[in-house]
Amino acid sequence: MTDIRPKPGILEIAPYVGGASTAEGVTEVVKLSSNENPFGPSEAAKEALRRSAHQLHRYPSTDHAALRRALGAVHDLDPERIICGAGSDEIIAFLCQAYAGAGDEVIHTEHGFAMYRISTLVAGATPVEVAETERRVDVDAILEACNFRTKLVFIANPANPTGTMIGTPELARLADGLPEHVLLVLDGAYAEYAEGYDGGAGLIAERENVVMTRTFSKLYGLGGLRIGWAYGPGHVIDVLNRVRGPFNLSQSQQVAAEAAVRDRDYARRCLSENVRLRRWLARALDKHGVPSDPSHANFLLARFSSVEEAEACEAHLRREGLLVRKVGGYRLPDCLRITVGDEASCRRVAHGIGQFMSPVE
Ligand SMILES: *Cc1c(COP(=O)(O)O)cnc(C)c1O
Repeated sequence: MTDIRPKPGILEIAPYVGGASTAEGVTEVVKLSSNENPFGPSEAAKEALRRSAHQLHRYPSTDHAALRRALGAVHDLDPERIICGAGSDEIIAFLCQAYAGAGDEVIHTEHGFAMYRISTLVAGATPVEVAETERRVDVDAILEACNFRTKLVFIANPANPTGTMIGTPELARLADGLPEHVLLVLDGAYAEYAEGYDGGAGLIAERENVVMTRTFSKLYGLGGLRIGWAYGPGHVIDVLNRVRGPFNLSQSQQVAAEAAVRDRDYARRCLSENVRLRRWLARALDKHGVPSDPSHANFLLARFSSVEEAEACEAHLRREGLLVRKVGGYRLPDCLRITVGDEASCRRVAHGIGQFMSPVE
């Protein structure tokens, strides 16, 4: 027996379960469970990473100035108002640590990303789940859930695992309707995939209560390297920089990310393949009787007629070496989230689902 106990809240955290990457008895798997870029990182990013090996004895830059300059140039943002982290997960954690503690509430939505709840509990605050409407963020429901204890509101736009999004006028209505003491966090992990969407940068330019988080893990194919960033009002970036450790990003992370974001050509090619294959896959699933909401990201949320059917389909695909994501933990037990892979993977997963839905006698 011991009297050593963690802070309240910690034992309420169910450990995060990542997308499966192996299937029993199958050697060649196609991983469509973690929304990774099927084409991998840009050659320029890999080359920058290789070159960085010669400097591994040096401590990294503490202010990430070169990477922030590159992000500012590419996205037309003020580099002084950018902060970089070890994945956007780290920035989500900074936000919770800095703005929420015991007695405070942090809002996330019904099908919202798991890290919002986890980081809230780590900070000692209370997560509050708000209902969505037909798998879409409901601005009115969020506004109604706010009270004097609310400190942060997290929404992913486009959202994971639904792939749906709300428009900039709705986001503005949310930002402007929040109580004065609440900070709105727009998680833009998939912002690049949404045509014509700036991740909320325009809203931030005119407000003091909105911050956006972004990542190199999805479009830039660098999930394994852990790089994310945020853009926000000066007062928020200043606070987050106080929480951030000085060496939170290695030089290898910084130089690879800078090369990746500057390789616009490669990003454009990955994007256009995603649009083409996402459309193809959605139609193919639809033909097999599996509907999905229009997705603004690099995955589809396939809807089945029951929990049993979704689970059986997942098991069938797994036997075929096709790994997709079960999303029961996101209150969507009758759905499967399928990453848009390369063309061969899309064809294989469509074929597997077709086999499952209408087995040949
Ligand atoms: C993948 C994802 C992230 C990104 O996480 P990283 O820590 O940057 O790898 C953040 N939010 C959502 C909604 C995601 O799906």
